[in-house]
Amino acid sequence: MTEALYGAIEAGGTKFVCAVGGSATDLRDIRRFSTSHNPLETMAEVMGYLKGHGPLKAVGIATFGPIDYPSGRITTTPKLAWRDFPLRDSVRRAFGVPVGFDTDVNAAAIAEARYGAGQGLENFIYITVGTGIGGGAVVGGKPVHGLLHPEMGHLLVRPVACAEMPEMPKGVCPYHGNCLEGLASGPAIQARWGRPGHELPPDHPAWREQADYLAQACHNLACTLSPQMIVLGGGVMDQAHLFPMIRARAKELMGGYLELPPIEPPGLPYPGLSGALALALEA
Ligand code: ZN
Repeated sequence: MTEALYGAIEAGGTKFVCAVGGSATDLRDIRRFSTSHNPLETMAEVMGYLKGHGPLKAVGIATFGPIDYPSGRITTTPKLAWRDFPLRDSVRRAFGVPVGFDTDVNAAAIAEARYGAGQGLENFIYITVGTGIGGGAVVGGKPVHGLLHPEMGHLLVRPVACAEMPEMPKGVCPYHGNCLEGLASGPAIQARWGRPGHELPPDHPAWREQADYLAQACHNLACTLSPQMIVLGGGVMDQAHLFPMIRARAKELMGGYLELPPIEPPGLPYPGLSGALALALEA
């Protein structure tokens, strides 16, 4: 008989990415399903995939949010049918096994702190910069939930304008305008420069503004949680040239007051999916 595996679901607003594995870094048969407006449709595909791998030991769900952690639900998503959808319990009922549940970024923070760039660190922050911006924190070895969960993508940052584009930006966050997500997400770059980030060359002035926002966020987070490392992942951070710019700008902003933690790219190829497996192992 083959060994039972763990199931992993990384639930996103546009796609669900699933895998099975024997440990957090052992990802097998990675599969993507588009996020339907009807949760039952998407979940039927996900469950069918997981059931195809035989009896599982446990399942981990790393999801987009905001979530209500105690009840295992997604809360105020613009995708109306997903609002209050009992994501954790629907998987628990279908499989009758323990189900771990957390935000995608808390899960990624757990995975990166245990098995990735921050191996062995107890105090760690993971931020993803893509269509949206989110952040998860591990403090004292545990993910932070608190009243709800951290929402670092909506930190308020100072807008900046470079000499090449002196007009101040208009942040795209529908709730806050000029928050981190409003100014530095993929759609924010597109709105300000008329092109997506991956089409802009490394010496484009957009990256100086981008580095400034991410440096401000790292400064604020270093002052708030004193993390031992901050990892920046997500599609926008595929621009590797941003890292030295962010580190240099964060140092400038800090003005010699505190030592900043290392600001690094992820150590794992799929931090969110490995995070979902880590949640399954813990469950
Ligand atoms: Zn916002």
